[in-house]
Amino acid sequence: MHVIDPAVFRFAMPKAVRISGRSSSITNAFVNGIIPVVPPTVEKVDEALRILGMEDKVVCAYCGDMASEWDHLRPLVIGKKPTGYISEIHNLVPACGKCNQSKGNKPWRTWMFSSARLSPQTRAVTGLEERVNRLAAYEEWESPTLIDFASVVGHELWDEHWQNHTAILQAMKDAEITVELIRSRIASSRAGERAPTLCPDA
Ligand SMILES: [Zn+2]
Repeated sequence: MHVIDPAVFRFAMPKAVRISGRSSSITNAFVNGIIPVVPPTVEKVDEALRILGMEDKVVCAYCGDMASEWDHLRPLVIGKKPTGYISEIHNLVPACGKCNQSKGNKPWRTWMFSSARLSPQTRAVTGLEERVNRLAAYEEWESPTLIDFASVVGHELWDEHWQNHTAILQAMKDAEITVELIRSRIASSRAGERAPTLCPDA
C-alpha cells in the first residue's frame, strides 16, 4: 500500500463512518451517564496544579501541549464495563485532545511509552520521565473513590441498565446489515452508469 507522506500532504479522503464503529461511544455514555460528578473546591484545584507543577501554566499532563480538557487518569470503562472510578479531581488531569483521544481507556503509564498512534512516545515528546514522575505523585495524592454499582443500586436496576446497553449495540449491528445492502445497491447502480464510458463503441 502506498502511504501518503504527511510532509507533502495534498489530499485525504474523510474517514468512512460505520454505525458499529460507534459502539465504544455508546458504552462510554452508559457509564458517564451514571457516574457521580464531584466538583472540586478552588483550593483542591490549586493543590492539584501544585502537585502537577502547573501553578503558572496549565498544560497537558502527558505531553506538555496546550490543555483543552481534564481527562480521567484511571479509566471509567474497561472491557465495556464500568471500573467503578468516578469524575473527581484526583482522578482527573489536564490533557490535550490528541492525548485524550489516543489514550482512550488504556492505563496511563503503559500508554505513554507505547507505540499507540499519537501517544507521547510516538510523538517523541521530551521530558517523559519527569511527566511520569509528576503523574505518579498525583496518583498518590488521594485515594480514588471506587463504587460497586451493582450493590449500591441493586442487581435488578443494574442488570436492566446493561440489558438496555446490549439491546442498543444489537440494534446497531442489525442496522449495519441494512447499510451493507444499501451500499451494494448503490455500487451496482453506479457500475451500470459508468459502463457506457468504458465501452464507447457500445
Ligand atoms: Zn497531550
